[in-house]
Amino acid sequence: MLLRHTVCGTLQGARSLSTRASAILSSLDIPAGAAELPGVYDGQWSGSGDVLESVCPTTGEVLARVRSATPHELHEALGKSKEAYLHLRTVPAPKRGELLRQIREALSAKRDVLGALVSLEMGKIKTEGIGEVQEFVDICDYAVGLSRMMNGRVVASERPGHTILEVPNPIGVVGVLTAFNFPVAVYGWNFSLSVAAGNANVWKPSPSTPLCSIAITKIIARVLEKNGIPGAVSTLITGGKDVGEAIVASRDVPLVSFTGSEAVGRVVGKAVQSRFGQSILELGGNNASIIMPDADMSLAVPAVFFGAIGTAGQRCTSTRRLYLHRAIAPKFLDALEKLYATISVGDPLVDDTLLGPLHTRAAVGIYSDAVERLRQSGADILIGGRKYDHAALSQGNFVQPTIAVPKTVDPADKMWSTETFAPILNVGLFDELEQAIEWNNAVPQGLSSSLWTKDIRNVGKWIGPEGSDAGIVNVNVGTSGAEIGAAFGGNKSTGWGRESGGDAWKQYVRWSACTINFSDAAPLAQGVNFST
Ligand code: NAD
Repeated sequence: MLLRHTVCGTLQGARSLSTRASAILSSLDIPAGAAELPGVYDGQWSGSGDVLESVCPTTGEVLARVRSATPHELHEALGKSKEAYLHLRTVPAPKRGELLRQIREALSAKRDVLGALVSLEMGKIKTEGIGEVQEFVDICDYAVGLSRMMNGRVVASERPGHTILEVPNPIGVVGVLTAFNFPVAVYGWNFSLSVAAGNANVWKPSPSTPLCSIAITKIIARVLEKNGIPGAVSTLITGGKDVGEAIVASRDVPLVSFTGSEAVGRVVGKAVQSRFGQSILELGGNNASIIMPDADMSLAVPAVFFGAIGTAGQRCTSTRRLYLHRAIAPKFLDALEKLYATISVGDPLVDDTLLGPLHTRAAVGIYSDAVERLRQSGADILIGGRKYDHAALSQGNFVQPTIAVPKTVDPADKMWSTETFAPILNVGLFDELEQAIEWNNAVPQGLSSSLWTKDIRNVGKWIGPEGSDAGIVNVNVGTSGAEIGAAFGGNKSTGWGRESGGDAWKQYVRWSACTINFSDAAPLAQGVNFST
């Protein structure tokens, strides 16, 4: 049966929730303690499919049960999105920019509590949760400006009295499939550029972070409604793999922007290609920092510390490999271990916590298996390597950040070549920069990379043709924590996608080459003569 609600409300009786959680949910208009919440929005709230549980990774508390879409609801929501697109494409781009400006203001007003929700549901620490919402605010600012600058081109024609235009037009409905670890910002990157371009969007968030997507959708929906714009410009369809597959397969979705693991991205990329749709793939990373002997250690050590431990090692840009020049390796590792030993671990909502939990119980198992593999291979575990066992942390998915020195650097070995989504840092020692660059590039992934040096010759090599083959190539800046202004994304098995700044907006439009003849003759190009 199809359930329809004009607001996101209770479907059945109440359940009790901790004050820690209910204060955050209530501030975001999410009925705390509702037995179930509708998880589909296309102008109206609905949801009568499978139940998704949002579980707090810190305490194990079930924060909410969310009803995802049935196949019928999904079909209907896709139809509403298409209608919303037909409307939005007629709204002038600067007016779409004005919508984004209002959305930016509405998000900014709720920034800190939205950040707290990210911490509550995903598990990252508060400053990172707030930073993630700030990223959505920033990309809205960017898209407001862009709405007056999504320019085409005038091309010189070889024929007299002719001109050629390259014209960008909206593309249609954009499917945005997102991962658990950035439950707010990744939708922001896509939504803001896509709306500036005149498209409607269908968001399928991770099944384990439905509350973040509901909170964001409610804020956007209010702005759309106030401006008389169909809510299905920002359609939300919560659900798992089945819902994702249906969106990916739909010919009503010409562009699919997918963020997630390499394994799922491989399936999604092929499925979209098989119907000649377009995709943007933002997949796993396996990022390295290289420390030269002339590096400023006072900057490099904290940067590696944040890169490896920030978001408990669950950023696509987390530092997973550390290549140290042999001359400074003992000193660097000593300083890094000292920092690791000071880490404050606990509730990510508490101000001075630097290490929160992993997102799921399953991730703890993946961490333990990876550490066990390292141990069995003879790696030296310098610090960490276990689950935290204090009583205070026992309800959450807390693991010790780990530094390991494997016996050899073998980029073909699984411990170097795969992304383990946990705070494990593998260390290798090198003598020449060329060797470190070769190791940096020898893995399948190509997202982020970082070189620490004061020597301009090293910088030139690193950012040039013989340098890093990643999408993000930093100097004296860690692998993690990009700004929105540059195009974000990775190469190779990270998927070659680009989102956010740079020229990323050009993917959210369909380009037409228009040759216009305003003369009294109709000559053919290249001087071809076809007269009788
Ligand atoms: P995941 O691949 O398990 O899931 C991502 C999304 O795909 C979810 O919404 C999921 O429900 C959906 N999905 C699962 N199977 C599907 C299918 N067959 N068809 C369509 N959709 C399907 O990833 P995750 O565990 O949520 O996220 C962690 C991964 O995401 C890591 O590998 C991380 O590096 C990557 N990530 C990459 C970036 C980037 O910008 N490169 C950013 C964030 C996260």
